Amino acid sequence: MTLRPRNIDPRKCFIAGKWVDALSGETLALINPSDGSTLCEIARGGADDIAAAVAAAEAALSGAWGKATAAERGRMLAKIGQAVLAHVDELAQLEAMDVGKPLKQARADVLALARYLEFYGGAADKVHGETIPYLDGYTVYTLREPHGVTGHIIPWNYPMQIIGRSVGAALAMGNACVLKPAEEACLTALAFAEIARAAGLPDGALNVVPGLGAEAGAALSAHKGVHHISFTGSVGVGKLIQQSAGANVVPVTLELGGKSPQVVFDDADIAAALPFLVNAGIQNAGQTCSAASRILVQRGVYDQVVTEMAARYAQLRAGPAMADLDVGPLVSLRQKDIVEGFLAQGSDLEVAARGQIVEDAPAGGAYVAPTLFADVAPAHTLAQDEIFGPVQVIIPFEDEAEAIAIANGTAFGLVASCWSENGARQMRVARALRAGQVFINNYGAGGGVELPFGGRGLSGHGREKGFEALYGFSVLKTVAALHH
Ligand code: NAD
Repeated sequence: MTLRPRNIDPRKCFIAGKWVDALSGETLALINPSDGSTLCEIARGGADDIAAAVAAAEAALSGAWGKATAAERGRMLAKIGQAVLAHVDELAQLEAMDVGKPLKQARADVLALARYLEFYGGAADKVHGETIPYLDGYTVYTLREPHGVTGHIIPWNYPMQIIGRSVGAALAMGNACVLKPAEEACLTALAFAEIARAAGLPDGALNVVPGLGAEAGAALSAHKGVHHISFTGSVGVGKLIQQSAGANVVPVTLELGGKSPQVVFDDADIAAALPFLVNAGIQNAGQTCSAASRILVQRGVYDQVVTEMAARYAQLRAGPAMADLDVGPLVSLRQKDIVEGFLAQGSDLEVAARGQIVEDAPAGGAYVAPTLFADVAPAHTLAQDEIFGPVQVIIPFEDEAEAIAIANGTAFGLVASCWSENGARQMRVARALRAGQVFINNYGAGGGVELPFGGRGLSGHGREKGFEALYGFSVLKTVAALHH
């Protein structure tokens, strides 16, 4: 199948408002994970293309984009958000095909992208400096300014959502962006660039250079003209990016992985919890940094939760993205290998239930049956490492202290939830959990763009979403005027 999304040529980079070949002239095959076929070729961008994109971003900052007022930037983002909504079906299909996610999930991601643009667009002229009372004779105030050129290196699991989250906030604050999408899934990044161009975003404010991580990604994170880097992806690459940003002394936001727990106490409303316990593990085939991959359950309700989660797992069906089932394929055969490697390491464990791969799923697709393990020891590899597949482990605990110790007992700290009807316990547990977000009697709060998001420990640092993102994508300048 050859794919030529309307108005974009996926073999090209988007630099200074134009579609251009990678200077190497080389391309990479983009694979459809639902059946293993080649969707299309994409540009193999490299250091020279990144340099051209950074130069285009610099030109935008000294041109129309740099001169736009906060209100004009906000209006621009709102307009792009509307244009995204006008392309909801096309974008959802591209994302579903490219990532392998069920169509309804891809559609939700498009809506999230539009909502990010609406939120950041509305906030663009509401984040600013302040005056500071100081010594007699001084007037002191702060200016909140853009960093300049921001680099965005994003993964394949939620391209549209992560573009909204990071590029949206960076543009709102007046930065010019260079985006390096993942080589496994970059079609919606390219389509978004075209939608933004058509909506009137000035040339160079957003540049997109597809390519390999070790080439285009490494070149972007090391480029001396980049003033801030936002990275979402693996812990290993996050460390490399922090090192290269460190060499240039530029700030980085790292959104890395997780091993997020949902903690279910004896007094929880189990019926309310169950859909969250399962969905937060298998959504996007478990390829979610905030996936609830560990379910901690108190002894009094343990058997009930295992039985009821297992019943739900038995109903899960995995199949092609366009079939729009519960679970799609993983993003690639490589990711499938990684997940199967973990499953092999769980051969000593009790499988509580498995979902099914539908019979007509194409043989070349990257399918893994959703798998639920019970009675897992907290120190087991499957309870410690990020699997990034449709796999969850259930861990029993006796009391609150043990629950907290297990929940906090990994190197990660992204998201956690507490299920309990006891208000005092909810407050204690929320404070004790080591995580960037804690949910009480829910998981994810519907993904609201207003809610600051980010990790602790190996889950990374810095916050995106909400107003925190706008603070992160800007710098303060203090001005102190002495007047007699
Ligand atoms: P990755 O970290 O290698 O890729 C993420 C992005 O970083 C891609 O755009 C990639 O091209 C780029 N990249 C890779 N090497 C780079 C380098 N040396 N310098 C600069 N950029 C580079 O992730 P992956 O290999 O695609 O997935 C592997 C594992 O990472 C997964 O199993 C999962 O555990 C984790 N992961 C986490 C997230 C998340 O949302 N936190 C997303 C994707 C993957």
